[in-house]
Amino acid sequence: MKIAFIGSECYPFVKTGGLGDVMYALPRALVREGCEARVILPLYNCIPDKFKEKMVYQGSFMMDLTSDGRTFYVGIMESVMDGVTYDFIDNREFFDWGNPYTGLWEDIPKYCFFSKASLAILNYLDWIPDIVHCHDWQAGLVPLYLRTKFDSTPVGRARSIVTIHNLRFQGICGIEHLKYWSGLSDMLFDYPVLKHNENEANMFKGGLAYADRVTTVSSTYAREIQTPDYGEGLDGHLRYHSGKLSGIVNGIDVELWDSAADKLLAAQYDRNSVLACKPLNKNALQKALGLEPDGEKMILGLISRLTDQKGLDLVNDILPHLIDGNTQVVVLGTGDPRYENAFRYYESKYKGTVCAYISYNEGLAHQIYAGADALLVPSLFEPCGLTQLIAMRYGTIPIVRETGGLKDTVEPYNWDEDTGNGFSFNWYDSGLLLGAINQAKSLFFTERARWDKMVCRDMEKDVSWERSAAQYLELYRSLER
Ligand code: ADP
Repeated sequence: MKIAFIGSECYPFVKTGGLGDVMYALPRALVREGCEARVILPLYNCIPDKFKEKMVYQGSFMMDLTSDGRTFYVGIMESVMDGVTYDFIDNREFFDWGNPYTGLWEDIPKYCFFSKASLAILNYLDWIPDIVHCHDWQAGLVPLYLRTKFDSTPVGRARSIVTIHNLRFQGICGIEHLKYWSGLSDMLFDYPVLKHNENEANMFKGGLAYADRVTTVSSTYAREIQTPDYGEGLDGHLRYHSGKLSGIVNGIDVELWDSAADKLLAAQYDRNSVLACKPLNKNALQKALGLEPDGEKMILGLISRLTDQKGLDLVNDILPHLIDGNTQVVVLGTGDPRYENAFRYYESKYKGTVCAYISYNEGLAHQIYAGADALLVPSLFEPCGLTQLIAMRYGTIPIVRETGGLKDTVEPYNWDEDTGNGFSFNWYDSGLLLGAINQAKSLFFTERARWDKMVCRDMEKDVSWERSAAQYLELYRSLER
């Protein structure tokens, strides 16, 4: 089976969040299952030179795009890594700036071009997939192009799947702007497809309507987005299409996230050595971040984009209540200045106890996953969430809100039966978050043997891609012609 993955980011070339991880791990897992996988990405300027240097030119052509028939250069640069072929679409006009995103006004033309060029290069390369698997709004137009402009071309035989990683971002803009840049027929700009409201069009909405199947990254999120609270305005549209909507929870790449071979750690460990090694990693983390180097302290970590989605207002509300002489807090993230400044303030107020590392730093993320005792993920909504999975893999106990993939992957600790993987709370309320943290603290400080058992249990939990990849494969097969 041949699958083309179309999306706007993919680790290690370019990544701003979980989408980048999925675009990396899922194709690799499918290749291990015997599939052929190609990943199609924009050749952004921000992709590091070390990757660009290894790419090989495969050809180029001109492609018409806009409603007035303007044509644009499409170059194809390719590299192969661990059995997965990566095709990068080259066009300086669209991809020369941004990290990789710019602003919606520029991103709309950029991803119209990308969506259409992705199908065009498959024809050009004469590599015709069974499935085009499109990710998030940036690839939202692919199913529409597939069933219109490409329907009677070789790639038209492919079936399409759209995966929703985050419904908050939909690619909404003025109808005329999208009509011009997509070159799609006026007929599609009606309410069941691309029309969002009187004046606006919605790329994601169109893709969801035209896709053969829609998936999202957890079953709970698949249910949640059909309600007004989580539907981001598309709940009615999703309820209408609910027959083709399902949830498949993400995994993590267990080679990339392998505490036993992680060179970034002060001490590598597996399930048998975690209890001996965690203190060493904790000590190294405390030293690296200027925290009081005290092995008795409980470290609460938070690794996140600093946006409203991640429940940071709850954390800000209660942070002073966490400072009890026995607890340290480490925040790694960038984003909304409101949160960046709040965490910086807490760091200066509680020097040596709170650290706010306001930046994107892969290495430090690994060290926090290994050195912290618990990880906070109190999201307002969370389609799947990867940080809780990585945390468990590294023997760090997740404290999560029961939403989306957090609910599907973290079984709350049961005091009576001594089972579970973490701590959780349901309503979006800072008091409840504090309650969950206090429960974790009770277990950590008063019932350490039970805590340690949970650490080992979490490290053993299967959070790998293999299970998810098998479910995707089943879905692809169900679409085979
Ligand atoms: P989202 O995709 O909504 O940002 P996920 O939990 O799905 O959230 O994925 C977040 C990914 O990004 C994880 O791999 C996490 O380790 C990583 N990450 C987030 N913020 C940072 C940061 N500041 N530095 C390093 N890694 C980060």
